[in-house]
Amino acid sequence: MRAAIYRGPGEITVEEVPRPEIESPTDAIVRVTHTAVCGSDLWFYRGQSDREEGSRVGHEPMGIVEEVGDDVRSVEPGDRVFAPFVISCGRCEFCRKGLHTSCVNGDSWGGDNGGGQGEYVRATEADGTLVRVPDRHADDEDTLEAILPLTDVMGTGHHAAVSAGVGEGDTCIVVGDGAVGLCGVLAARRLGAERIIAMGHHEDRLELAESFGATETVAARGQDAVDAADDLTNGGANHVLECVGAASAMETAIDVCRPGGTVGYVGVPHGVDDSGLDVFSLFGDNIALNGGVAPVRAYADDLLNDVLQGTLDPSPIFTKTVDLDGVPEGYRAMDEREAIKVLVKL
Ligand SMILES: [Zn+2]
Ligand SMILES: [Zn+2]
Repeated sequence: MRAAIYRGPGEITVEEVPRPEIESPTDAIVRVTHTAVCGSDLWFYRGQSDREEGSRVGHEPMGIVEEVGDDVRSVEPGDRVFAPFVISCGRCEFCRKGLHTSCVNGDSWGGDNGGGQGEYVRATEADGTLVRVPDRHADDEDTLEAILPLTDVMGTGHHAAVSAGVGEGDTCIVVGDGAVGLCGVLAARRLGAERIIAMGHHEDRLELAESFGATETVAARGQDAVDAADDLTNGGANHVLECVGAASAMETAIDVCRPGGTVGYVGVPHGVDDSGLDVFSLFGDNIALNGGVAPVRAYADDLLNDVLQGTLDPSPIFTKTVDLDGVPEGYRAMDEREAIKVLVKL
């Protein structure tokens, strides 16, 4: 089969690799039909995080079940499924408390499991990991493109909103106008927020944020952004979604959080270890920091219901579509910020 391979900073290739096979009774093989390039893929693409050269990439698979092991009960060949960015068993202590990202039987999509940006993946722990799309929606292209972000960014934006404690009638601030921040806006609206202030650097993305439900936007950096948000909220919001991960975004999120409020953070921490997180800024104003890597499997069924009912549609975050051979071009377009998020249709 063919799959995208990381060959070093700035270099993704599509190569012939061994096809994953059933190795354990809990495995399923999925033929990937749709996947995506992630903002988090850009960290290694830019050489800002380590990744083994020659490794397979991608972690947002959707497709058709091709083959299942003897113990798999929840799906069968021919089923339309999608999967979160990590594999989880659904039955351990952490899966049962909705923390699937800490699954003791967990695994990733890389290595022998195939990589999400390739023709086939192996879902170890298929019953815990794969989410089945009902047959009547299984071939509807628009619906599938609205479901695909549930593999990662929509669940992650939702985790930011949940972690920040967003509820009915609340005012919240979303830091970051990438795919996760935009999904955070959708999630905050879905949870009933009355005012949603989207902060970012890109006018076009903030326009999309408005179409997703942001009531106000702030297009500024650093202290200017903090001052603008403070003005709009009279001293900050009780609920802040940090959707970037960079140290500067975390600082901004804490700065715009109202005393006694909560920052829900989901961006993969980046550069925070160099500068250190100023715990005093949390201490002085009793600001809570909540969140972490999003257990998107915990949210997948609820969010899927909303997509299928037509009340949730994150698909506008896909501003470019490529085929498998176009994956390298997809990375380039996201790296150069030509695309918010790239859809890959195999
Ligand atoms: Zn991702
Ligand atoms: Zn588990």
